[in-house]
Amino acid sequence: MAGWPHPTRRHVPQMVATGGGGGGGAAGIGSVSAQAAAAATIPEGLADGSRQILIKGGAVLSMDDAVGNFACGDVLIENGLITQVAAHIDAPDAAVIDAAGKIVMPGFIDTHHHQFETALRSQLAHGILVNDGRPVNASNYYETVLQTFSMVYRPEDVYINELFGGIAQLDAGVTTVMDVSQIHHSPEHSDAAIEGLRDAGRRGVFGYFEGWGERARYPEDARRIRKQWFSSDDQMLTMVMGGEIYLPGYEKAWEVGRELGLPIALHVVGTFGMQPTFDEIGAKGWFGEDNIFIHMTGMSEDGWKYASDAGAHVSLAVPIEMHMRHGTPPIQKAIDRGMGISLSSDVECTMTADMFTQMRSLMTLQRMFVNEAALAGKEDYPELMQCLDAIRHATIEGARGLKLDGVTGSLTPGKAADVILLDAEAINVAPLNNVPGAVVTLMDRTNVNTVMVAGKVKKWQGQLLGFDIEKLRRELEASRDYLFEKAGIERNLFRA
Ligand SMILES: [Zn+2]
Repeated sequence: MAGWPHPTRRHVPQMVATGGGGGGGAAGIGSVSAQAAAAATIPEGLADGSRQILIKGGAVLSMDDAVGNFACGDVLIENGLITQVAAHIDAPDAAVIDAAGKIVMPGFIDTHHHQFETALRSQLAHGILVNDGRPVNASNYYETVLQTFSMVYRPEDVYINELFGGIAQLDAGVTTVMDVSQIHHSPEHSDAAIEGLRDAGRRGVFGYFEGWGERARYPEDARRIRKQWFSSDDQMLTMVMGGEIYLPGYEKAWEVGRELGLPIALHVVGTFGMQPTFDEIGAKGWFGEDNIFIHMTGMSEDGWKYASDAGAHVSLAVPIEMHMRHGTPPIQKAIDRGMGISLSSDVECTMTADMFTQMRSLMTLQRMFVNEAALAGKEDYPELMQCLDAIRHATIEGARGLKLDGVTGSLTPGKAADVILLDAEAINVAPLNNVPGAVVTLMDRTNVNTVMVAGKVKKWQGQLLGFDIEKLRRELEASRDYLFEKAGIERNLFRA
């Protein structure tokens, strides 16, 4: 392991969920004492999963037509699984969560997030994807983040960035992520990324992408990683193979991924010059249902036809695509072709990673184009996206894209209890008059009251449990300081 301290022993998150004696931190959200105070109010048997759990009397948005929705309904959980969803459930032995005034729904799913960049948050707030020659864009994503910052990461940087980004999204109700880690400079870097994902304690898909330097083992190390970390398909973490077509030798990555039975994900960005290659391999029949195509901006009609005919999935990072010049988010193109669309936060160096921002961006942009067509007098303009559609893209469609729809993405009996409770009585939401409308048009991450992953309570009464967040933040800041110094980039808090 090249002398690098193994993070599973060194960085075990501090458990404070049991309450009592957890003081020491300053008061306030995320502090050890605030977490302990919240944890002390958890009903007995809830935290350890030793009893049935009954979520009672919430507005239940199941995201499953066969289950339906309930203005006032109950969700029963046993051994980490949802066992029943109904208007009223009798479970006298269950630990009860009073969901009055809450919206109960499946956790959000982010299908493309570069968590290794968490220490670089807001560093590239004005950045575009590539250098366009203008002085203002001398600092840009490709050169500054991928070719400069990412080159100096050590395994311990990968670990704390992954972990902190993961628990921050857990706090925002994102119970599943596909982490796109382009940071595999050595097998130790790969292991650190997986351990960071694992220690965040949520459902995760490890996207095994490229790395750089003489110790990089991508893509061949996928075989070891699959065997060592992902030998069972029945676990909290699964694996996806990265197959970037802008990198030389991508054919090998696709070959290894398919040999290992892994879905293959890749960025597909016309402004990055990928259209010819995409069309070429599409024409060769390479695409399949196992493909996750990220962005799909600026692609040809032929490329879209190959992708949709093959049943490929599309992951859209709408705010990032608009902000960073990837091209116009192809929302309508994917809808018109009946393709599965999920949402992705992409990079926090440039944009926040909560799904409320994602849903609002998706819906307002789709509606802007449709409304423009209507105002221009066109008669056959598309349907306006509805709030429920936006939530579908942020939940069950993401599960489908990641091949996890048998496990998560909706409140369906038999699926894992990845459940969130959103506060519909909060000052920015009350009074509640429409459930999907409140979620998409009013709410933000402060409304995420309770988060469960596989029936385990991760956030309770607005407090993330089980992590010493102040300590982890200091570790992230230390990583940040190292990365800036080593990369030779000045940290200027007021850079234009
Ligand atoms: Zn990306």
